[in-house]
Amino acid sequence: MAEAEIGVIGLGVMGANLALNIADNGYHVAVYNRTTSRTEEFAAAAGDLSERVTACSTLEEFVAAIRPPRPVIIMVKAGEPVDQQIAALKPLLEANDIIIDAGNANFRDTMRRFTELEGPGQTFIGMGVSGGEEGARRGPSIMVGGKEEAWRRVEPVLTAISAKYEGEPCAAWLGENGAGHFVKTIHNGIEYADMQMIAEVYGVMRDHLSMDAASIAAVFSAWSTGPLDSYLIDITAEVLRVEDAATGQPIVDVIVDAAGQKGTGRWSVIESQMMGVPATAIEAAVAARSLSAMRAQRAQAQQRFGLLPQQDRRDGQQVIDDLEKALLAGKVAAYAQGFAVMAAASDEFGWNLPMATIARIWRAGCIIRSRFLDEIATAFTRDPDVENLALTPAFSKMIEGTDMSLRRIVAEAALNGLPVPALASALGYFDTYRRGRGTANLIQAQRDFFGAHGFERIDADGQHHGPWGGSV
Ligand code: NDP
Repeated sequence: MAEAEIGVIGLGVMGANLALNIADNGYHVAVYNRTTSRTEEFAAAAGDLSERVTACSTLEEFVAAIRPPRPVIIMVKAGEPVDQQIAALKPLLEANDIIIDAGNANFRDTMRRFTELEGPGQTFIGMGVSGGEEGARRGPSIMVGGKEEAWRRVEPVLTAISAKYEGEPCAAWLGENGAGHFVKTIHNGIEYADMQMIAEVYGVMRDHLSMDAASIAAVFSAWSTGPLDSYLIDITAEVLRVEDAATGQPIVDVIVDAAGQKGTGRWSVIESQMMGVPATAIEAAVAARSLSAMRAQRAQAQQRFGLLPQQDRRDGQQVIDDLEKALLAGKVAAYAQGFAVMAAASDEFGWNLPMATIARIWRAGCIIRSRFLDEIATAFTRDPDVENLALTPAFSKMIEGTDMSLRRIVAEAALNGLPVPALASALGYFDTYRRGRGTANLIQAQRDFFGAHGFERIDADGQHHGPWGGSV
């Protein structure tokens, strides 16, 4: 008998935890995984929840176990596996069944899948899920894109399993087709910037102030009671305290300094560039991960150029106080950029993305959850049409209170040869953004000189050309 109310395909880290979360919330869930042994292991480990779990070894069995109209969550490796899974599932489903891709899809793939699934009467949802393993099990942040009517049908289960911020569910419908996966992509882009800036600040403490991991951990712990209060700051303090069993050293000191990446950061940058919206802090963070992976070249370059001797050292506490504020200023830039990219995409794809809601559903469950996001939600609620977060009263004030610290840290890091590319890019962004008369007049003159591209004048309408003599 079909008794499951929902199905989950893919019992890897995320799918397995999501399925347990669903069962934990009182829903009966059918599960299926390509490799049957994984399904068996999952069923064996489900414990008390197994009475609400139907483990299936074939897709036919899986589909038959779910009551129509069936919501089916696909949580497999992003890319080709999702297409393969949809192709295998499609012929077995009926009209009104809903396929939900909950992996980290590129939103352009999601839009293509929407088009491909139009017609047979089945519905597709592209759903971003953030929170890692623990979030999937205890409550992630859920970003839904698709037909609003489809969302209404799955809203009860998705809100039940989502994280809650002061009782409010961190799950929402954000717009049609690719909206959910686009927002998840930018979430991850911001996450890259957040993590990079934290790593830069750690670098200043380690390499300029010569602090050990435990002392740096204490600084991050102290910050977690202030405006930087966030999951990423908390886990940073925690990982810095963990000892390596083999060497007795702090584990961070034995981890190779080459960061992995799976694509969402890069997609954020590509999309922002395509729309002409600067996301410099995210770009710097993605580039920093790529540079981190060039370990052999970096070693060679250090041999060739050496490191700068640490000089101009101020009192350590003064530097630490500035680092806290610099990190906050950098965060303002990264989030302002991320939200501006989402606003541009919203216009381009006609999504009508609700910025305050996005900030609200990121306040709990997801990796960038923080007190800061509550302030962003408030700012966008008060001023929903503002073009840049930096221009809202609360965030303008935050910038005024932190930008001198960012300036001092970037300057100090530059003089000491310490890489702070994301913080420096945040400063460059502010300084470019706040200057009414920039320097692009010269670029326009150059473009007109070599390419007759024309320019506008400040004192007359229309396009003009310069009286270039052609002397070069
Ligand atoms: P895992 O590597 O733990 O599991 C991958 C799953 O995909 C397995 O169930 C695997 O099945 C299945 N799979 C792989 N290839 C195929 C295929 N060709 N056909 C059918 N099934 C296939 O991945 P995660 O659970 O970590 O990630 C799943 C998705 O969630 C990804 O899109 C990921 O980006 C996203 N995500 C991950 C987060 C995380 O913190 N890990 C956070 C948020 C999103 P099999 O057992 O047969 O190999």
